[in-house]
Amino acid sequence: MTREYRVYGVVQGVGFRPFVHRLAETHGLTGYVSNKGSYVEIVAEGTKEHLAAFRRDLVGKAPERASLLHVEEREREPFLGDSFFIAESEAARGSRFVSPDIAICPACRTELFDENDRRYLHPFINCTDCGPRLTILDEMPYDRERTSMKSFPMCTACAAEYHDRASRRYDAQPIACHDCGPQVYLLDGTLRGADAIRAVRRALCDGKIAAVKGIGGFHLCCDATNETAVRLLRERKRRPTKPFAVMVRDMAAVEREAMIPDALRAIMDGPEKPIVILRRKEGGKIAPAAAPGSRRVGLMLPYTPLHLLLFDYPDGIVMPDALIMTSGNPPGAPICRTDGEARETLAPLADVILSHDRRIRVRADDSVMEVYDGTPYMIRRSRGYAPLPLFLPPLEKVRDGVLAVGGELKNTFCLGQGGVFYPSAHIGDMGDLRSVECLRETTARMASLLSIEPRIVAHDFHPAYRTTNFAKTLGLPTIDVQHHHAHIVSCMAENNWTEPVIGVAFDGTGYGPDGSVWGGELLLADYKGFTRLGSIDPFIQAGGERAAREGWRIATGLLQGEDVAGSAFRLGLGSEEEIGAQLLLVKNKINAVVSTSAGRLFDAVSAALGLCRESTFEGEAAMALQFAAEEWDSEGEVFTLPPLGRAQDGRLLLPTVALFSELMNRRLAGEKVSALAAAFHASLAALIGTGCRAAREKTGVSTVALSGGVFQNTLLLRLVEDNLRREGFDVLRHRLIPSNDGGLSLGQAVCAAARMMEKE
Ligand code: ZN
Ligand code: ZN
Ligand code: FE
Repeated sequence: MTREYRVYGVVQGVGFRPFVHRLAETHGLTGYVSNKGSYVEIVAEGTKEHLAAFRRDLVGKAPERASLLHVEEREREPFLGDSFFIAESEAARGSRFVSPDIAICPACRTELFDENDRRYLHPFINCTDCGPRLTILDEMPYDRERTSMKSFPMCTACAAEYHDRASRRYDAQPIACHDCGPQVYLLDGTLRGADAIRAVRRALCDGKIAAVKGIGGFHLCCDATNETAVRLLRERKRRPTKPFAVMVRDMAAVEREAMIPDALRAIMDGPEKPIVILRRKEGGKIAPAAAPGSRRVGLMLPYTPLHLLLFDYPDGIVMPDALIMTSGNPPGAPICRTDGEARETLAPLADVILSHDRRIRVRADDSVMEVYDGTPYMIRRSRGYAPLPLFLPPLEKVRDGVLAVGGELKNTFCLGQGGVFYPSAHIGDMGDLRSVECLRETTARMASLLSIEPRIVAHDFHPAYRTTNFAKTLGLPTIDVQHHHAHIVSCMAENNWTEPVIGVAFDGTGYGPDGSVWGGELLLADYKGFTRLGSIDPFIQAGGERAAREGWRIATGLLQGEDVAGSAFRLGLGSEEEIGAQLLLVKNKINAVVSTSAGRLFDAVSAALGLCRESTFEGEAAMALQFAAEEWDSEGEVFTLPPLGRAQDGRLLLPTVALFSELMNRRLAGEKVSALAAAFHASLAALIGTGCRAAREKTGVSTVALSGGVFQNTLLLRLVEDNLRREGFDVLRHRLIPSNDGGLSLGQAVCAAARMMEKE
């Protein structure tokens, strides 16, 4: 009999066609497998039993990276082939599945260091199971002539492997070797190949700064065990305290430096190889300057052959087993991907630049995750994950393409069609015009790769965001989505949840429909819209842009009582002049907005407890507060606070001003900082619980979704989640979509699609 299968899922560039081929031969079937762009078509002929066994293995034994969304099958007229073959790609319209890049696999790694292998020490070794994918892709379908590998014609030996079904490199598009593949070189033009690699290793050993072109962009790199080198990098990159990611040679080095939960091992050492933020162990070798004042460190394992060669090369140089690997970009701008960009922006920072001639078509920063409950909790979803899609069956009928342009910070965008949504890799902060340019370029490229023609563009409600502006230049109908609504919808979508929820959006800054700054919100939300049920107590955020960075200004404005100036001074918030000036700004509402931003509340508490007076990077003050709370060895005290208040518009108010006052009184009375930091977390979690109970009484909804950048704080997340579960709520939280603004675009896209479905 003859059957036809249509396989939908991530099936391009993960060795799926060769897998089908081998499987069909194993089961004695004839027919073909063909890449149709939107799906893979398989026609198979054989006995009923053989077909059944084939169908079972198709799902059960599929390559690890082929996450099949679904398989359709039907009987069809006989095809009458005498063998099984892979039909050439045909371009076809419809939703496409573009694979993320895949870290070097164990088999290629073994060959890389095997003196008898013809790819011994080849910096671009890869196979059907590993290597670059998205970042070298020009056009779909995924085939060598539509990638950056087009400029490297295969040598006879590589071509033989490429066409040999028994080979690990059968149909492997980026296949390469010393004879035909790309080459590494120093950007100053002096050295190539092995000499260039040796020179960079030597420089790193000598405490110098190198820039190294990777898979999705350049990294800045130095010896992570050398305090002086790390400080030098900090000075040059003008990044005083924000933690650097560290690449370590192997799992043994990970174990030495940090505690790693079992569930994270497979991910750290698997095809994704993200940066995982782990708790440091005593006695590690990584210099304190890598993550100043923090008991955590972001570690990752080498994921390209070139990284492995930086650690191990037969040149007699003894390398450290930990290297700083931080994105090679100006703060907030996209990661550099071309020699031109590297020359312009990295040459002043690096003593030596190691590049290569395989072009990067799409940028991909490293993904970053925290650990929560022993499982991944995404902070930046990029290489290895983007643009893997999410499938939301209820929106399947929306045939028009949607583009969502994301927010201003940690920007990502999202394309969607037919219920399938593709969140992009990390772009950057829109404060830098290069990021806006990158957004323009990458949205167009991904729309073409995925064959999605946007008919509508979703953007943030903020009229002055550069992303809003960009959306309006596209000449398409636009939809605005309120910032915190988008956060909550992203969390619902990630959990495949379609019923209304109570959304707890605790966040830095988002534009509210009333013109005030929102960010500590309780919303009743579904995909299409929301009602504001409550918020934290509003306060005056005075001092313009600076108030967003300088927590002491917020703290000064939040203080209550007779002698505010005196208290502020005793809390060390500033000099008498600074405090006086800030109080004037607050009193006369100069450069001031009404704010319910939970992020700013964290900044204020952090400043008033003497932890972080002003932030040098987003989230610094909140991180310091979380770390201080984690120093306290028991659960924080839950303060007795007044009941929920009411705002003029009738919404509930969590008494956070009273919480702040209580903290300050105790601080002035000499209580311990870590105890108070812990009490702040515990009391805030209790207030959120109280707010949600009141919201449930009012609405009958008992599912809560937790989102917004403040929920990057895993201590708060745990306290809130435990509290709510104890109270009988179902809790939705993020896992692989960031709770921060990196997740906004998904929420915007889903909201836009839902509103379109309503119209139809
Ligand atoms: Zn491989
Ligand atoms: Zn070759
Ligand atoms: Fe946000």
